[in-house]
Amino acid sequence: MIKKSYPEIMKILCILYDDPKTVMPKRYALDDIPKLEKYPDEMTLPSPKEIDFTPGELLGCVSGELGLHKFLEENGHTLIVTSDKDGKGCQAEKELIDSDVVISQPFFPFYLTRERMKSASNLKMAITAGIGSDHLDLQAAMDHKVDVVEVTYCNSRSVAEHVVMMILSLVRDYHNQHRIVNEGGWNIADAIQRSYDVEGMHVGTVAAGRIGLDVLHKMKPFDVHMHYFDRHRLPESVEQELNLTHHESVESLVSVCDVVTINCPLHPETEHLFNDELIGKMKRGAYIVNTARGKICDRDAIPRALESGKLSGYAGDVWFQQPASNDHAWRTMPNHGMTPHTSGTSLSAQARYAAGVREILECFFNDSPIRDPYLIVKDGELAGMGAHSYSKGTTTGGSEEAANFQK
Ligand code: NAD
Repeated sequence: MIKKSYPEIMKILCILYDDPKTVMPKRYALDDIPKLEKYPDEMTLPSPKEIDFTPGELLGCVSGELGLHKFLEENGHTLIVTSDKDGKGCQAEKELIDSDVVISQPFFPFYLTRERMKSASNLKMAITAGIGSDHLDLQAAMDHKVDVVEVTYCNSRSVAEHVVMMILSLVRDYHNQHRIVNEGGWNIADAIQRSYDVEGMHVGTVAAGRIGLDVLHKMKPFDVHMHYFDRHRLPESVEQELNLTHHESVESLVSVCDVVTINCPLHPETEHLFNDELIGKMKRGAYIVNTARGKICDRDAIPRALESGKLSGYAGDVWFQQPASNDHAWRTMPNHGMTPHTSGTSLSAQARYAAGVREILECFFNDSPIRDPYLIVKDGELAGMGAHSYSKGTTTGGSEEAANFQK
């Protein structure tokens, strides 16, 4: 194998979300966070040689610097951290030109389009601090031999918790009831006229990877009928343990489910999958929970279906573009339970992906292999989880419009 020779001093560009509007917290709600031993499939948690941050503190914002500052500085590298990521001439675009590594989080994505990738002739690796690398033009990364890696599993279970929260809150109509309380009201009939039990419903996931499968595990105690569709079938033992109905197509799944949760990556096969046509095949009054990617759903079809009653509710935390514009229709459509893109960036998840990024960088600087499950693109090809979960092509089209939506 020919060893790549990298410069000793590298420039690392890190795009993070803005600090809190007030100040960085001096004290957090919890004094510490639980220490997890391993993931359910025995995969080990991120294991860098060292960390220079306190787990449970804000790391994903600019001042948090993903806990990388000391490590990179001591090794002589240059770390540039910015939240100025959209539009022509933004700081991230300028700094990218001579960067060796770029790090971005899906919650506040730096859209690495083909044009931007072309401008960055030193770029060797793009790290997703999280999971989901659709904000990069993966085809351009393959063409330009830029490796793409993500911290597989770091926040999959965080998202699954959020999905369960959203399924329950939509079906039970929590948001409406909470609003009534905040407004000083007490009309029970108003509060429950859209409220149902989840028990006995048919709940299906589009994709049963790390998140989808964890959602199924977490929903089992609610005594629901569970369905899934994935391009990789689960082992028979898992299907039996969870009493799952496997579907050969997404159309078949949506036609029988009361609740559909979307847990596949965004890639050319899944872009705008939930359009008028597919939603038309769903049961009247079904609910959608999408914490995968906003662009898997058609932006206009969702409000249309909520207004007509075809859908009873839609919740999720993913939008296209991000940040979402102040007047994005999903902020004001009826019966929605949207949050900003938060499910995978709880303080607990941040500690894992910050450690994962550190582990990746340690491997990269030492020219030792990065774990196979972290790979999305390697040496010009889809690799690792990229080969398993993505297809070739790009889904960054339209991302340049994010520049119009700042603040
Ligand atoms: P994973 O790789 O473990 O699972 C992805 C699954 O999707 C795989 O089983 C794959 O076979 C399946 N899949 C891919 N294309 C498909 C298709 N066309 N039809 C059906 N199934 C398909 O990843 P994961 O950890 O479960 O994460 C899944 C996605 O969730 C990520 O790619 C990302 O987009 C999103 N995510 C969101 C957040 C958040 O904060 N909201 C955090 C993490 C991940």
